[in-house]
Amino acid sequence: MDITERESSEIELIVLKNMAQQSRDSMIYLNSEFGILYVNKAAEDLFGWTLDELRGKSIDILKVDSLSEQVKDKIKDILNNGGSYSIDSLSEKKEGNTFFCELGFYRFYDDNGNLCGFLTSQRDITQRKLAEATLKESEEKFQALYENIPSGTLIIGQDYIIEDVNHKTCEITGFSKEELVGQLCDILCPKGSGSKKCPIWVEGLNGFQGMDTTIKCKDGRKNPILKNTKRISLHGKQYILESFQDINERKQAEEVMLHAKLVAEEASRAKSEFLANMSHELRTPLNSIIGFSQILNEGTFGDMNDKQAKYVRNILNSGKHLLHLINTILDISKVEAGKMELYCERFYIQELLDDLSIVIHPMAVRKNIRFEINELTNNAQVCADKTKLKQIMYNLLDNAVKFTSFEGSVTLTLELIDSELQVSVSDTGIGIPRDAIDIIFKPFKQVDPSTSKIYGGTGLGLALVKEFVGLHKGRVWVESEEGKGSTFKIRLPQQEPLN
Ligand code: ADP
Repeated sequence: MDITERESSEIELIVLKNMAQQSRDSMIYLNSEFGILYVNKAAEDLFGWTLDELRGKSIDILKVDSLSEQVKDKIKDILNNGGSYSIDSLSEKKEGNTFFCELGFYRFYDDNGNLCGFLTSQRDITQRKLAEATLKESEEKFQALYENIPSGTLIIGQDYIIEDVNHKTCEITGFSKEELVGQLCDILCPKGSGSKKCPIWVEGLNGFQGMDTTIKCKDGRKNPILKNTKRISLHGKQYILESFQDINERKQAEEVMLHAKLVAEEASRAKSEFLANMSHELRTPLNSIIGFSQILNEGTFGDMNDKQAKYVRNILNSGKHLLHLINTILDISKVEAGKMELYCERFYIQELLDDLSIVIHPMAVRKNIRFEINELTNNAQVCADKTKLKQIMYNLLDNAVKFTSFEGSVTLTLELIDSELQVSVSDTGIGIPRDAIDIIFKPFKQVDPSTSKIYGGTGLGLALVKEFVGLHKGRVWVESEEGKGSTFKIRLPQQEPLN
């Protein structure tokens, strides 16, 4: 529209009206009784009413919550005396949605300087209010957490000054909050930060976790603590958030436990040494009992009557049994005392199987048990302590035959798995109850001690297997089902041969 010909007052009006219409801020012009004279486009959009719907109505139509009659009187007073006024209030749009509105009230005058009404500006501040509420809520949560966590917590500034401490810090150190806040953190730091060398600031670390250190207490004690620190940002400034746990009691308990462990280890070593010595002392007379009864049994010094011969055989068998028992105890004690050594060599596994078969086969035949061996490929070599490996396999096979009834079967399987030797001994015997599986590897433990009367045995065989396997850094385990049979397995890493 070409307005060059119009009166300047008319031009001014058009310009002002256009400015009001194009303003992004919502504007409403009111008479001094809060009746609506004019609303701009932004106000129409904000409240959802049109200018025609609002013109001549009271501002009450916009349902501004805080705009009570008293508040209106107050606004009138302030504006009439030359001031301005602003409120944040809940308001309602035409379609009923509520929102947070910031309202500013100013005066406006006619050309002659007479007060002719109020100009109000409005802004939707719902998002800001929500953000403020969330921030307030998280600050409250942080504060609650900060005060109630069972750890001491400190906030330290970049100037090494303590900004805040929680209640627990005071409880642990004996200082009051007032004595700590505002002080250099070397009041608590065992190293002292007088040199101001905290790694967080100096080395630019983000924080560290689980530092085993101490904290200085008011009475001069250095209390053991476990400390975590984290660099945080508060109101645009960097701080260290430090939290620590009092581990004084734990440290004391650890020391007591360590002492108890050392005492127990010493006692165990003493026991093993005692057993080793005892067994040694017992073997000497036992060997002469066995030797002399063997000579008598062979009749070298003349014939004996039947009863004498029977008793001498009893002495000989009991002597051999006792010697076996003592040898096993001696072996276990030696391993436990750390005195048993491995003599590893490379050998053909077949040699070992031949030796074992000679002993196991007759035992299996006596019970009509099928004894099978699944060997490694021909001429396979392994590196281990041959004598101990033979003892391990013998003990497992002896048990397998012992606990398998007539007509059953026993299978020995050798495999190389990931270059480790695996030996499995399976039987179709009585099996082992689930709850006994862990105890049978302990010395003198049997599933049911009364069965030793039926099957014989002392409960030392598997204990020795476990010790010998352990010496090879291997493992032993058993899979079994009661009444159906058991499979004992050992896995031995390849050893380095002794040169
Ligand atoms: P021992 O055979 O001399 O009693 P071991 O230490 O060799 O001692 O075995 C401990 C116990 O584990 C045995 O008494 C037996 O109860 C159980 N056991 C071992 N091997 C087998 C097996 N193959 N089948 C069933 N039970 C077994």
